[in-house]
Amino acid sequence: MPKKQFKAESKRLLELMINSIYTHKEIFLRELISNASDAMDKLYYKSMSENLGLSRGEFEINIIPDKQAGTLTITDNGIGMTKEELEKNLGVIAKSGSLDFKETVGDDAHIVPQDEEMSIIGQFGVGFYSAFMVAKKVIVQSKPYGSEEAFMWTSEGSDGYTITTCEKETTGTIITLFIKDNTDDERYDEFLERYRLKNLVKKYSDYIRYPIKMEMKSSKLKEDTEDNETPEYEDTLEIKTLNSMVPIWKKNKSELTDEDYNNFYKDKFNDFTEPVTVIHDKTEGMVTYSALMYIPKKAPFDYYTKEYEKGLQLYSSGVMIMEKCGDLLPDHFSFVKGLVDSEDLSLNISREMLQHDRQLKAIAKSVERSIKSQLTKMLTNEREKYCEFWETFGAQVKFGIYNSFGANNEALQDLLIFYSSAEQKQTTLDEYVTRMKEGQEEIYYAAGETITRIDTLPQVETLKDKGYEILYLIENVDEFCLQMLGLYKDKQFKSVQSADVDVSDDDEKAEIKKANEDAKDLLAVMKEELGDKVADVRVSKRLKSHPVCLTSSGVLSTQMEKVLSAMPVGNNAKADKVLEINSAHPIFEKLQFLHKNDEKVLKVYADILYNQALLIEGIPVDNPSDFVSKMCELMS
Ligand code: ADP
Repeated sequence: MPKKQFKAESKRLLELMINSIYTHKEIFLRELISNASDAMDKLYYKSMSENLGLSRGEFEINIIPDKQAGTLTITDNGIGMTKEELEKNLGVIAKSGSLDFKETVGDDAHIVPQDEEMSIIGQFGVGFYSAFMVAKKVIVQSKPYGSEEAFMWTSEGSDGYTITTCEKETTGTIITLFIKDNTDDERYDEFLERYRLKNLVKKYSDYIRYPIKMEMKSSKLKEDTEDNETPEYEDTLEIKTLNSMVPIWKKNKSELTDEDYNNFYKDKFNDFTEPVTVIHDKTEGMVTYSALMYIPKKAPFDYYTKEYEKGLQLYSSGVMIMEKCGDLLPDHFSFVKGLVDSEDLSLNISREMLQHDRQLKAIAKSVERSIKSQLTKMLTNEREKYCEFWETFGAQVKFGIYNSFGANNEALQDLLIFYSSAEQKQTTLDEYVTRMKEGQEEIYYAAGETITRIDTLPQVETLKDKGYEILYLIENVDEFCLQMLGLYKDKQFKSVQSADVDVSDDDEKAEIKKANEDAKDLLAVMKEELGDKVADVRVSKRLKSHPVCLTSSGVLSTQMEKVLSAMPVGNNAKADKVLEINSAHPIFEKLQFLHKNDEKVLKVYADILYNQALLIEGIPVDNPSDFVSKMCELMS
């Protein structure tokens, strides 16, 4: 029979896995056990919702090592796989995102460093294939529930697989691993040792809710021993359940170590990196549930794409009823991974009904509160850790404020942190407000691409000199988020790049007013030359060393205009830009001179100065070649 080939990416991934020098080959067992457990969950769930009358006690996993044959067999009586499912589930590895995988790994898979290698493998849920880390050949025999036929999938690794019919009496799956021969550096026969297997089950799969059974040796008193003889023992094989079957989330916090929590996370959520934090709740009262949630250290590869699906696993009394329940997590906490188990939810509830379920809504509310309180704790007590978290997921929280049109302001505003000019590190809004100068009514911020870039903005320079603290906004969403907030503790947010920010005293104000009146005609000529590009041209006293700066007079800032115009959906929203000219700069005298003597050159100056102001803001000039030729005109 012709061998079928694995899909190209699968083949590459499989080779990578087989040849991986990864030391944790032992994880193959937990992967296979976890698949078996899922298969039994599926059948049990089907039985509950379709009244098939199966009882939970019937389900079990068996592990059978055979040293003579060199095989390790794992059986389950779960839902099984049809021929098509064998093909679909085991014939393709990177079911999702095979393209992304290609991009990440490139053509030469072997140059990927080990850790990254494994985290790539983890991301694609290739659990089953880990069997090839220890086996030279794998046979999967499976009989799906309700079918008379059984099929057998056989593969010796990356060169393909075959599927044939086979005899199998009972529903479920038998996986037989032909364990690799030992090499000089690597022992594989340890995976045929009962004590080793037992320890692996304890270490990784203790919480599995179905019994994992294996024949274990035990010493027994010989039956025919006479009372007066010295007792004699004999070794017998006895089937033992290896796991305690208590799900980790049902245990008490005091019984669990960080390692327990982290191992469970890595296994369950296919992450090779430890999580930033764990949230373990057991709540009784209005709703009764246990939740075990994690904040990952790294964002999943698809996190900021629309393919990413948020959600927590949902269990009803220990049986998984939904792999990803999106209704349990608000969008602004969509990065949280974990599960919720509640007795208050009925097992055979349909997805549609679940959406309107009052219990579920109550749980979701409580889950949100709990995540927030954990984050607040981290913000207060572990600032550095929080900053790392923020770097990865902060944008999502800010989107949460922006997207909810104010509804989440109260809930999320105290989680925000921004870089502060005064502190030279991240600060909360509350901390900013407590440091505000006497009489300061507004919270100042400046937006730009990087902290260094913002630091050199002319407007920032002046405010900093006067002793005001400025928040630096470097992410696209930042300014939109603050605008949505509007106020924090009754203080308004104010961009230092806006035209009406004013920190001058009365004398200075009068001076500026007069300077503008005196230069009225000059400014009018410049405004006329610039036309629609600017809303106004003004004389300014707020600039120190720079000749000009650009501010905006409407709600939309120049930075926001930049963000919007970069969006894929074309957006023509324009900021009302104001060109401000430094009256103390020599260029201002030059302008006055030109106004009197050569209006044509004054217009060229107006254009050039406007473009320079754009450049200082980090915005591309409108017409670079025109700009350059005007510069040359002046230089020659
Ligand atoms: P994952 O478990 O992350 O989906 P795997 O490669 O481990 O990835 O398994 C692929 C699929 O094969 C599973 O999603 C499941 O549908 C099917 N499968 C694997 N093992 C079994 C089993 N013992 N019984 C039934 N189906 C199984």
